[in-house]
Amino acid sequence: MKRKYDPATAIQRLEQFGEFGGVNPSITDSATYTFMTEQTMIDAFHGEAEGCFLYSRHWNPSNKYLADAIAAMEGTESAWVTASGMGAITTALLQLVNTGDHIITSVTTYGGTYAFLANYLKKFKIDVTFVNISDVESVRKAVRPNTRLIYTESMTNPMLQISNIPELAKIARARDIKLVVDNTFTPMIISPFKLGADIVVYSLTKFINGKNDAVAGAICASTDFINDISNVNDGTAMLLGPVLDPLRSSNILKNMGTLHIRMQKHSENAMYLARKFKELGLKMNYPGSPEHPDHELMKTIMNEEFGFGGMIAIDLGTAELATPFMELMQERKVGYHAVSLGYFKTLFSNSGRSTSSEVPKELQDEMGLSPGLIRFSVGLDHDIEASYKLIKSCLDDLKLI
Ligand SMILES: *Cc1c(COP(=O)(O)O)cnc(C)c1O
Repeated sequence: MKRKYDPATAIQRLEQFGEFGGVNPSITDSATYTFMTEQTMIDAFHGEAEGCFLYSRHWNPSNKYLADAIAAMEGTESAWVTASGMGAITTALLQLVNTGDHIITSVTTYGGTYAFLANYLKKFKIDVTFVNISDVESVRKAVRPNTRLIYTESMTNPMLQISNIPELAKIARARDIKLVVDNTFTPMIISPFKLGADIVVYSLTKFINGKNDAVAGAICASTDFINDISNVNDGTAMLLGPVLDPLRSSNILKNMGTLHIRMQKHSENAMYLARKFKELGLKMNYPGSPEHPDHELMKTIMNEEFGFGGMIAIDLGTAELATPFMELMQERKVGYHAVSLGYFKTLFSNSGRSTSSEVPKELQDEMGLSPGLIRFSVGLDHDIEASYKLIKSCLDDLKLI
């Protein structure tokens, strides 16, 4: 087995316990922290009081434990945890760019990210060039003197393209540009920092927490960058304040200990369905399938033992065919007709009408996002064969195959 990086063991080796020896670290239940001397408080404001906490929007012990676990998983020096994935993405980007700067981004990204880049950054006069991220040459050509960063997703949403992170990193390095990668779809499977990315952002809401009971995010980067975002004078995280609640972060931390097993099972079940969908002759998109245009690329960058991930898309051509199919799948208990992903139950939704509805229709067509595209986040089903039979019965009864 080819092993590029072992995020699971990096997490397993952490020793994090509570002040009374509890195997789970104690939960921070304080917004502020007392100081025994005035001098220590002054030092804390200057970032010079090692191990001291000042105020929970800045840093708090529970969030530090979770951030350390995420940094271990990514192999970065540091991390900072946010109240949402969008909180992580917007904080990282706003920290890096100034008025007049330029960003190059994959045109297929999470809908909220697309909207932030296309609509929101305008107010700061930041130019954004949208490229097909599989066309690395178009990225190289888009670089301008004021380009500050290249943004992409390891596995793009919802087209499931794989970004060639090592090649993008080369372009970024040569021009002193930062490469920022959203790894939400492929935690453990792909280790973007190990492949040359500078900053890795996450929605922890998805696979990492895996319970769909919390919204959270993370930024993984160098200690310098994390210190910059949490700087009391000009740090984006400190000043915009998207901090994660420590009660939530302690819950998410406990779920990280099982992430490797969950990723393997999501991948195993998705691979099973992909093979079956192919046998049925459905128009299907799964990076684990040899026909996927980025299958070979993914094999060269992935940490193989975690599989090709839990996301599959099928294309029924039109929304009119997709809608009754999704409704029937829910009725027959295949899973839930819901947005989001990384849950233990299978979730499915029509991307064009839901998570990518922020992307204008013309652009959806241009990127090949069919109105009949159904994105599946395959769950941890114990009997995936039985689940497949339910899906097939829906296809049969609606005469879709
Ligand atoms: C969900 C998601 C986000 C946004 O995360 P939130 O936690 O909902 O704010 C960003 N990127 C990707 C790829 C996502 O799937």
